[in-house]
Amino acid sequence: MAEQGGHPTYLWWNGERRRWEDATVHVTELGWSTVGAVFEGIRAYWDDRTEELHVFRLREHLERLARSMKMVRLDLHYPVDELSETILDLLRANEVREDTYIRPLAYSADTSGKRFAQLGHQAALLINTSPMPSHLLSGTTQTAKVSSWRRVSDETMPPRIKNLSNYRNGQLAGMEARLDGYDTAFLINAGGTVAEAPGACVMLVRDGRLITPDVTSSILESITRDALMVLAREVLGLEVVERQVDRTELYLADEVFTCGTAAEITPIVGVDKYDVGSGEIGPVTRELEQVFHDVLRGREERYAGWRTPVGVTAAAAV
Ligand code: PMP
Repeated sequence: MAEQGGHPTYLWWNGERRRWEDATVHVTELGWSTVGAVFEGIRAYWDDRTEELHVFRLREHLERLARSMKMVRLDLHYPVDELSETILDLLRANEVREDTYIRPLAYSADTSGKRFAQLGHQAALLINTSPMPSHLLSGTTQTAKVSSWRRVSDETMPPRIKNLSNYRNGQLAGMEARLDGYDTAFLINAGGTVAEAPGACVMLVRDGRLITPDVTSSILESITRDALMVLAREVLGLEVVERQVDRTELYLADEVFTCGTAAEITPIVGVDKYDVGSGEIGPVTRELEQVFHDVLRGREERYAGWRTPVGVTAAAAV
């Protein structure tokens, strides 16, 4: 069996597939080694009917990893096509037959004594996988609080890439929200408009229009956000607007949801104790969830190009 003791049999680290137990670093590497790290979060969805696993927008995620690495001056030693094959190979080796999260992490190995100018270091690259069931169409909802923390701004950190250090910002906002009795947070950017949630982008519906903060609002260049804008326009025929969003628009929206690889589509039914619309999942959110689900599970052939088949069943049969 692929799963032993709650973890997959293999991960991939610095050019090789290795057994999980064999991938260790010395404890003194903790600390500064990940301050300069960047990462990706990718999903693969299992389809019961075809017994196949599909990775969602694999190339786009790996291209974003390459951009993140460029931004923080880490060299990527593998072409995107090769990394793509590496991930498919890892999923097959682990015989993954469930919804799964794939996490590439690039970091600067051997940081001892070089805290600031970590230049010319060999970039280490780890790819590991873990189960992550989908919550689409499950009726899951969240409440949100507008955080007292501001979203990191492009003047201090690069919000548009998956820079691990940025996530301290989201953690602070997330912890504040939980302690105050909410599920998640919305961060306002340095310019005073809505940026995003910790680990997810924000979309709202008002008068039948889908509105989302633009990419200069201190948001991650999100792949789910991009996919949902395409689906909203092309499948639901909605007008989609990317622009600055005011805080009070969250309170007066008919529908609000967060979106992202892990978040998928998560309906937000209350913000700062204001009901969003009727305080229940709205019709546009529901429709978009259905369409997104159909695309991810291969029931909407138009967007087959977004899905990379892994070949899990074929590999197991060999
Ligand atoms: N913002 C942040 C800060 C994130 O970490 C994520 C998750 N990657 C998102 C937005 C959504 O991005 P994506 O759709 O590419 O997963």
